[in-house]
This record gives sequence, C-alpha cells and structure tokens, in this order.
Amino acid sequence: VLIEVDGGRFTAVTPSVAAAPDANRLPGLTLPGLANTHSHAFHRALRGRTHQGLGTFWTWRERMYEVATRLDPDTYLALATATYGEMALAGISCVGEFHYLHHQRDGLPYADPNAMGAALVEAAAQAGIRLTLLDTCYLSSGVDGAPLAAPQRRFGDADAAAWVDRVGALRPASRDRWRVGAAIHSVRAVPAAEIPTVAGWAAGAGAPLHVHLSEQRAENAACLAYHHRTPTELLGDLDVLGPRTTAIHATHLTDVDRTLLGDTDTGVCFCPTTERDLADGIGPARSLVDAGAALSLGTDSHAVVDLFEEARAVELHTRLRDERRGHFSAADLLTAATAAGHQALGWDDAGTIAPGARADLVTVTLDSVRTAGSDPSAIVFTATAADVTQVVVDGTVVVRDGRHASLDVPAALRTAIEAVT
Ligand SMILES: [Zn+2]
Repeated sequence: VLIEVDGGRFTAVTPSVAAAPDANRLPGLTLPGLANTHSHAFHRALRGRTHQGLGTFWTWRERMYEVATRLDPDTYLALATATYGEMALAGISCVGEFHYLHHQRDGLPYADPNAMGAALVEAAAQAGIRLTLLDTCYLSSGVDGAPLAAPQRRFGDADAAAWVDRVGALRPASRDRWRVGAAIHSVRAVPAAEIPTVAGWAAGAGAPLHVHLSEQRAENAACLAYHHRTPTELLGDLDVLGPRTTAIHATHLTDVDRTLLGDTDTGVCFCPTTERDLADGIGPARSLVDAGAALSLGTDSHAVVDLFEEARAVELHTRLRDERRGHFSAADLLTAATAAGHQALGWDDAGTIAPGARADLVTVTLDSVRTAGSDPSAIVFTATAADVTQVVVDGTVVVRDGRHASLDVPAALRTAIEAVT
C-alpha cells in the first residue's frame, strides 16, 4: 500500500503498488493511530508500588492521594512528559487526560489557575502526541455534597460556575494539537444541582463530556440511597447522556442503565487492566455495544500502557465471565482502540487510514517473538506495546525503530517518579 501524506494529512492511499524506496518503507503491519481515551497521567508513579497484597480501590486511592499531594507544575510536567512518552512508544497518537489536579496543595489557585493543565499541554507537545484536556469538575467528597477532605482540596473549584470560569480561560492558540473537553468526576464528586452547569458548558462548546460511572458498587449504593436512582439514571435525568458523552468504566449497571446508555448513543470507555488491578469487576461490554453504545479504551491508572492488552482484555475477560468465546471480532477491538477512541475525544478526523484523515500511523513488527507467525488480522491478540516500531502523528515521525525521536523515556520516567515518591 502506498500512503501519501501532505500537511499532516493523508492525501492518497493506493493498494497494490510497486515497492516504495527503502527509506520510506514501514516493514510490518501498519495500523491507524491508537487513542487512549482515559488517562490520569500522575497515576503512572504508582506502577509497581500498589499491586501486591490486600486492599481495595479505596485503599489504592489513599496511595494515589499521597502522590497527588507532592506534585507541582514542574514535577507534573516532568511526570506527564515521561508518561506521554511511554504512550507514544506504545503507538498512542492521542490521549484524553481526565484532569482534576488543578490547584495548590491547600486548595488555593496558582497565579495561573490553569498552571497544572498547562503542564499537561506542554507534556503532550514534548511527547509528540495530541491531547484532549478533559478538565474535570470535582466539588464534593460524597454523593450528599459533603465538602472535600484535605487531599482532595486541590482538585476542587468553589462550585461549577467557578469551574466554568477557569475552564473558559483555557484557549488553545490552534485546535490542531490540543483541545479542551469537560468531565464530571463522578456522581460522588459533583452534586446533582451542579451537574447541569458542567453539561451545559460542554454542550455550548460542542466539547466531549466524560464521567466516571459505576466503577464501584459502593458508588451505586450511595447514589441509590441518596437520590433513589442509579448513577446512570441520575445522569439521564440531568441531560448528561448523549453522543458527545463518554461513560468511563460502566462496570456495575442494571438492564435499565444499559438501555439508557445505548438509547442515548452515549459512549463507554473500558479500562480493563486498571479494572482488574483494582478488583472493580468485569463490565458488560457486549450488551452495551448491542444496546448502541460505542466502545473505546483507556489505560486509566497506567498499571499497564498497552492498548493491545486493553483491547483483547475486553474479549478475554468476557470469556472468563461467560465461559464462552467470540464476543468481539479482532476488527471490532481495533476500532475501539483507534477510530472510536478518537471520536470520544472529539477528533472525528483521526483513527483511520484514508484520504483527508490525520496522518497517524502505528507500525507493529511481525518479526518479534510474540508476533512471528501471527495472522496479521489477529495481531490484536498477540502484539504488545513493545512490538510497536514506528509511530507517526500528524505526519511527523515520533517513534523510529522503537525509540522515541526526542525523549529518553525510561530515564525520564525514573527521574520523574523518584521526584514524587
Ligand atoms: Zn479514571
């Protein structure tokens, strides 16, 4: 296949042509850019430190808060640059950063109230990937609207109107490399009375709107007790659901919840390697897609940064639960990792190799110990992030021969993590 690129976009894709000059060949299987729909960049510092022993999502969260407390705009820039560098090496051309680490440790704003968001924007630029900054409204510590406790104070704005004021000041000079989206942290962290303000801002801006949904049964129980509705029903009643909205996790749902998400064309983003690490449960991926929800994927806590692993885990976890195979085709799993993810992040023109689309290319070697002998159509079941050899984002080579073009990613990760742990 001859792929021609100009100005960061594909101009022609021609099958069955004579071999290209050696310098421009991409040996292996070339896929569209992968989209990481759900990231908390700073959670990368917890990898290899939080997986052993007992504990729950809630005890893991205490460790996460310890790291959150140590970050400032400089250390956050270093950690996020290294984390996004790891994503680039894994073939990720675009990340959705669910960003709630806004203010100083005591909750007061920095001189630039968006200093932490600016660090993420700069980090994505240095790593060479696109960013949707999903600025997250986070106001309360419980579904009853209880005030934020100490480690959460730096996440919060005074109210949703203050969140709108701060987010409104985020203005990309060009929308080509990064964009602003909105997020409601969860029904735990944004009181019902404040939710419409966030959803209204996203609707007015035509921006993606993301929300953590029913990751834990305890969230459902608290919401039912206080609002007498499931979190999905509450979001439906508040006009949050719709095609611009993506529900993250969507693990513990009722039949009514699934129908509601499907009927409103709400997207769902699964993060299987995080969900299994935190013992969250196995979400109903197949029935959500059957109901009409588009499926995307995220690496969330970055216990693993490998979208091939996330994609096959959706199928393989469902097999373990249902004792049956064949829920998703390999092509469907790759669509979740590419076009559907870009769509969920507001980049409708990425995630496919076609004239007019953004020139993102991810080449996977077919000669590694993992992939040698694989049928290329089933590569999602055998490849890992370590098999990505070449990555092009918007027509620029970001990874060549398995190395980042400008960053020493392992060294950057080690230095950045040592500074905050
Ligand atoms: Zn998350």
